Amino acid sequence: MLFMAKKQFKAESKRLLEMMINSIYTHKEIFLRELISNASDAMDKLYFKSMQENLGITREDLSIMLDVNKENRTITIKDCGIGMDKDDLENNLGVIAQSGSFKFKQENADTDKEEVDVIGQFGVGFYSAFMVAEKVTVLTKKYGEDTAYLWESSGVDGYTITESEKEGYGSEITLYIKESTEDESYDDFLAEYKIKSLVKRYSDYIRYPIKMECTHRHLKEGTENEYEEHKCVETLNSMVPIWKKNKTELTDEEYNEFYKEKFLDYSDPLTHIHSKTEGTATYNALLFIPGKAPFDYYSKDYEKGLQLYSSGVLIMEKCADLLPDYFSFVKGLVDSEDLSLNISREMLQHDKQLKLIERSIERTIKNELKKMLNNEREKYEEFWKNFGLQIKFGLYSGYGMNKELLKDLLMFYSSSEKKLTTIDEYITRMKEDQKVIYFASGETVAKIDCLPQTEMIKEKGYEILYLTDSIDEFTLQMLVDYDGKEFKSIQSSDTDFETEEEKNEKKEKAEENKDMLEEMKKLLEGKVADVRLSSRLRSHPVCLTSDGALSIEMEKVLGAMPDNNSKPKADKVLEINANHAIFDKLRSLYETDKEKLSAYTDILYQQARLIEGIDIEDPVDYCNKVCSLML
Ligand code: ADP
Repeated sequence: MLFMAKKQFKAESKRLLEMMINSIYTHKEIFLRELISNASDAMDKLYFKSMQENLGITREDLSIMLDVNKENRTITIKDCGIGMDKDDLENNLGVIAQSGSFKFKQENADTDKEEVDVIGQFGVGFYSAFMVAEKVTVLTKKYGEDTAYLWESSGVDGYTITESEKEGYGSEITLYIKESTEDESYDDFLAEYKIKSLVKRYSDYIRYPIKMECTHRHLKEGTENEYEEHKCVETLNSMVPIWKKNKTELTDEEYNEFYKEKFLDYSDPLTHIHSKTEGTATYNALLFIPGKAPFDYYSKDYEKGLQLYSSGVLIMEKCADLLPDYFSFVKGLVDSEDLSLNISREMLQHDKQLKLIERSIERTIKNELKKMLNNEREKYEEFWKNFGLQIKFGLYSGYGMNKELLKDLLMFYSSSEKKLTTIDEYITRMKEDQKVIYFASGETVAKIDCLPQTEMIKEKGYEILYLTDSIDEFTLQMLVDYDGKEFKSIQSSDTDFETEEEKNEKKEKAEENKDMLEEMKKLLEGKVADVRLSSRLRSHPVCLTSDGALSIEMEKVLGAMPDNNSKPKADKVLEINANHAIFDKLRSLYETDKEKLSAYTDILYQQARLIEGIDIEDPVDYCNKVCSLML
């Protein structure tokens, strides 16, 4: 056996290796992903060679074998790939940042992509083994050669290469796992369950079987508490990613099972989107809209993101950049070969490609939701119940930037349809003379429905959208209009429902009662901006509306926000129904009993607040006033 003198890494290489070992990767556990990827690449290269030279090796002949030895504290990764000769070892494992795999890809760039689609590219992954191992050996024999070599290294000090013996071609990488210290435990890496879970997590879709001898414990036959162990070789990975299969080969059940297992949900997803996209952005995506909003969805603990794979290897568990906030409920994964990964393969460099994929995914999700809205209404309403708030929030928080994308997904309860409606549908039902889209805000549909303001509008045959979420009015404000039709709150003072005749009549009455209305306004100074005759009340005596852009509903929302010191107030207007008996009473009190007029005015104002869902300012004073009138 020929013994070679110990060679030194070049000085810069030494520094680089130290850096590598200590700072490139945030998770030590990825060493296994790197070594398995190398094994897979080596077998791809052999398979490619076999195809070129008719060697008769098929993919089915190739597999990776893992071996964990707790006593010796070793993990061995065996492949039956292309192997390495002495020069290969020198070039690939002696020079950091030299990637034989990258070279291979370049040399065969004109070949069918699928065939040379190897994973390695930076020439550093191998050294991640030193994060968990004090010594690494590589026993390898190149395909078609007789001599095997043993590469040995304990890290920065350098490496040795000696001639050795090995049955068959391929490589066996053995990691001598470090002893645990007070700060860091490495023992887990010698546990069968850990290795299994790492393979599942990072290397599940490596296209060759990754096998390991696993131990099973079961009750000894005929005994009640005696156990025996038996060992058998298991394949740990699923190999073919479900998203690379054809849609036609897959059933809904298979998609649903995959979703539940992968994204840890008990219930089936509402729908799945399986897309293969080629062109400016080339990727496979498998996306799911959950059936229910996760319990923490509307809290700051919820983390959005899609799993990101590059050629079937997991790169990132939650890539937030792939999902816009308004679609943050989507779960799923993206697999692309075109990504420019950074050296640790953990994060991406700010990548144009990623942006393109995000745009494309955004359009795909939008189209799917629109399709569901048009063809599967019930399902869409279920979706809306769970995630509608997020869409409305997205429209608001983007300062209207996303309105073209999101506006036709919106739904609100309709006064006339008595169910959810889209704004498009509302517009098709608009009356001929109707110029604006009416809406009303309140806590619940039932509460809005009995607002005094809605009575006449409904009677006149106009449809009203009922806004029950606090974000709703802000969203519509951001939207400004829908296909040129503006939104108008029926609780706003300038909403106009009157005919010319009604207008003139009201004007006359207001003129006649100008002094009384002035007096009432004075009595309510600081509380309302004005007291006016109403054009919107039918059977109710009074209501509150607002002047200007800030509505009473918005005042409520802003007032309820924590840490909001400014708490802006709406300019409230007390509207009185001039056709109600109370109006005649007020007129007579104005002539005869100013004190009572003051009490009446205040009571009516407080009642209007109650109807609007705002607390009365002084409940005791209010009750005393009502009580004194009852006596
Ligand atoms: P990368 O995989 O990004 O190229 P590595 O540092 O992991 O970088 O590996 C460097 C090179 O060593 C690879 O490109 C490959 O040529 C060679 N290599 C590593 N592992 C094996 C293996 N199991 N069989 C054959 N060659 C290997």
